[in-house]
Parts: sequence; C-alpha cells; structure tokens
Amino acid sequence: MDNLLIKAKNIIAGKELKVIKNAGILIENGKISKIYEDISKIKISDNFKIIDAEGDTIIPGMIDCHNHLALDARLQNHLVKMNDCEAEQTIRALKTMKDDLYSGVTTARCCGDRFYIDVACRQAQKEGRIIGPRLIVSGIGMRSLHGHGYVGMPHCGPEEFRKTSRENIEKGVNFLKVFMTKVINATPFIYHFLTMEELNVVVTEAKSVGISTSCHCSGGQGLDACLTAGIDCLEHVYYITKKQIEQVKEKDRWVVYTPSYALNDELLFKFSPHDKDGSLREKEIICDCLSDAIKNELKFGIGTDGLHTGLAQEAIYISSLGAKNKDVLAGITTNAAKLCGIQNITGSITEGLEADLVILDGNPLEDIKALKRVKTVIQGGKKIL
Ligand SMILES: [Zn+2]
Repeated sequence: MDNLLIKAKNIIAGKELKVIKNAGILIENGKISKIYEDISKIKISDNFKIIDAEGDTIIPGMIDCHNHLALDARLQNHLVKMNDCEAEQTIRALKTMKDDLYSGVTTARCCGDRFYIDVACRQAQKEGRIIGPRLIVSGIGMRSLHGHGYVGMPHCGPEEFRKTSRENIEKGVNFLKVFMTKVINATPFIYHFLTMEELNVVVTEAKSVGISTSCHCSGGQGLDACLTAGIDCLEHVYYITKKQIEQVKEKDRWVVYTPSYALNDELLFKFSPHDKDGSLREKEIICDCLSDAIKNELKFGIGTDGLHTGLAQEAIYISSLGAKNKDVLAGITTNAAKLCGIQNITGSITEGLEADLVILDGNPLEDIKALKRVKTVIQGGKKIL
C-alpha cells in the first residue's frame, strides 16, 4: 500500500471537528500517522505519494447510521423487492455498497438485512474481496408477526425473539434490531407491535454479551416502552413528544434521524396511505417533532434508511430543521462513530485511526451542501475515488 501525504486548505480534525488551515495528513500503512498543522514545514522522503488538495477541505469518511444493504429505495417497488431470493438480494447489496462508498460513506451501520447478507458482506469487505463501507451489522431484524418491518422477519412471543437474538449473537452481530411501530403513522394513536416481555428479552440477551440494542420506533407508547426496556438507540423518532425528548436526554440514549422519509415529498407520497393533503399534514407534524428534538440537543446519528448515496442530502435536511453544521457533521462522523462504538477505529481525523477520509470542494462547517461535492474518497489509506 502506498504511503500518502495529503495537503489541504482545511482539515476538520480530531473528535472536536476543529478546522486546521493549510495543513497536511500523513498516511502510513492505512492509518493516519501524522497531522501537520503547517504545510510549509513538511519535509518528507520521496517514497510518499502526494495528493494536492490545497483548495479543498478534508473531513472524516462519512458514516451512514441507518442502512440496509439489500433495500434500495432508489428502485421502483423497493419494499416488495425485499421478498426477492437470497442471490438477488446479495447482488443488490454489492451494488449499494459500492455506490455508497463512492459517495463518501466509508462506514455503514446496517439495521437489518435478510439471510445474514450484512454479516457475510462485513467479512468480505474486511478481507478486501468486495468494496464498500466498513460494516456494523445487526443480522436479522426482528419484527412482530402482525407488525411493520419489510426487512425484518416476523416473531411472536418472547421465546421467538430470544431464539433469533441468540442466533444473531452466534453469527457475531454488533447489535440487535427490533421493529416497534410503522414508519409514517397518523397521530394521535401510534400502533405499537411489541410487548414489554418481548422487548425485555432482546435487551437482556444483548446485555448478556455486551452488545447494544436499537429499535425502529416512530413514537407513541412504543417509544415509552423502548425507554423503559433500556433500548440504546431509537431509530426515526418522527413523532417524538416533548416529554419523550426530556426522557431520552435524561436516560442518555441515542436517536438516529432519517429525515427523507418525512421531508422528501417523492418518498412521503409513495409511502403514505393518505392523499396528498394528509401527507403534507403529517410532514408538518414530523418536522415540528424533529425540530424539537434537535433544539433540545439529543445525541444523534443520521441515516439514509436505504436511500443509497443520499447521506449528504439527509444531513442537509437535518441542518434545515435547525441543527448547527458542526452537529450535523458530527452526526455522520464523530458522534456516528460513538453510536457505533468504533470511535477508536474510525470516525475522526486523529493520529492512529484508520485513514478514512473524504476530500470536499468546500467546507461543510460553512456550507453544509459541500457534503454533496465529494472529490476524493480514501478508505483505510486506499484511494477509492
Ligand atoms: Zn430501516
């Protein structure tokens, strides 16, 4: 592997995402070996390849906090395609992984895929047999027999949840994922499909081996149940109330925002059973709830939920809902890494960590849309794009 020196106008470095101007990053054996605070002082031997990004900004490789490898929301009838055979879904996963990596996503957190495709792809990526983001995986997502979840598999009663939890753990997943509610679900009553007993079993099994839990949860009583059971991360939270925001904060839990499903009209109308007006009403409620959560500074990650290559757009939506650019960037880098438990491996430009980097035309701390202007992607010190 080549040793690299990258010179840049701005490097957004460290866990605090601090801007260092006219700086350089030295990469040796795939890792960030040195950050130079002044390019003019760099003296290195000839065996380094140099990337000149002196007009550009380097950020940490992006982390998609809510991904499904075989769910590709860019396709027609993408939910029905979750019933495709294993081979077809695997082929789709290989394509979405490649696309995501080229868009600047060097790590993805997979919130459920059928057939343990995510577990297999995690290993294959690690060994360099396929290209794509590093993967944090949850294996088989667990939904209720009568509940929502196109990617999850149906379960009924605590013992079925326990069995799949243990199968997932045996396969070596990084966390367990359950599905509590629908996606967009008209208020005031939000259906919830898992009992306390079922949730408790999943949390107990995860804790017994030191892994975390995550729940697809829009809001309502289901969200209260997740807080009580000790679920570590709440996905979507479209209808989170002020009271629940307080509790999430007090209990120090994570949330993952996937705003496209509420803010991207094309998707919203595709999913909603209501007419256009109904959908727009939902959109307004959801925007209010998410803005409230953002204003109260819940710890968050940002995810695409299968809208592959769309992470930059999700980040832009979160900024439009009131988040500061630095917090938005943290939600796809430093904080995202903490949420995944990989902050000592990747997620920031810190000496000793993997050289997962993205070179952007523009500084996202000043202009969040710069996240869309990806010029170069480097993963583990290897130039991908
Ligand atoms: Zn999802």
